[in-house]
Amino acid sequence: MDFGIRGKRALVCASSKGLGRGCAEALAAEGVDLVMNARGAEALEETAAAIRSAHGVEVVAVAADITTEEGRSRVLEAAGEIDILVTNAGGPPPGVWTDWERDDYIAALDANMLSPIALMKALVPGMMERGWGRVVNITSQSVRAPIPALGLSNAARTGLTGFVAGTARQVAEKGVTINNLLPGIHATDRAVALDTGVSKAQGIDIETARKNREKTIPVRRYGTAGEFGATCAYLCSVHAGFVVGQNLLHDGGGTNLTV
Ligand code: NAP
Repeated sequence: MDFGIRGKRALVCASSKGLGRGCAEALAAEGVDLVMNARGAEALEETAAAIRSAHGVEVVAVAADITTEEGRSRVLEAAGEIDILVTNAGGPPPGVWTDWERDDYIAALDANMLSPIALMKALVPGMMERGWGRVVNITSQSVRAPIPALGLSNAARTGLTGFVAGTARQVAEKGVTINNLLPGIHATDRAVALDTGVSKAQGIDIETARKNREKTIPVRRYGTAGEFGATCAYLCSVHAGFVVGQNLLHDGGGTNLTV
């Protein structure tokens, strides 16, 4: 299927590795030019070069912290006109609710709620003027079913979800769709960090922590960044123009819900 987005320009945040990289690669495979971002310049440049050479698209790489105002302005300046926005940033640290103070909540809100909102505020008006646009926010399964160790994520991402639910329905008439893509566990550095936390807390090795987690997922394995990216590219495609304000779980069936 041709996704119909060849020649469009996408900003994919936090994309040198993991799920962001998966989205960048899948969009590049559809002929989309990219603006990519991460804090570490070395991994970012390596990923950008790999994508350029694999897909022949234009890739602009901006090393910046997307959760800061300064970082976002540099990214936005380099980005120019953007048709497709994929928001992403690192997830908050695990812990228990008694661990966190106000500053911890502010940091989580900045990274996982206010940064994506600021990026949408900057880029969606241009998409509306041009009559076409796609926004996909990478959030988490924790917005459908809270994960006890990830209280900061549960809180901040649910705030973003509420914002998107209202806003998506105000911009859709101009050809702009905003949706959230909700990862369950995927085989990325984030999964290694989470499994390391479990292995320390339970006094087990990391391989056992991973196997135990795999048993809780109906497909009995972790997802891949490639699968995640392909789903993101579909949401950014011309075929997804009637998909508005949705929260699509990509979790191997791991979140036990009826609807
Ligand atoms: P990852 O493998 O750790 O990759 C994170 C990517 O984001 C890296 O390229 C990293 O590069 C970049 N990054 C992190 N913080 C950034 C910042 N402040 N500004 C710019 N770039 C930043 O993580 P992932 O697994 O792809 O996860 C992506 C998001 O999905 C996270 O928010 C995570 O919490 C959420 N999520 C993941 C899973 C999972 O199983 N993987 C499940 C649920 C939710 P630098 O470090 O160089 O900046």
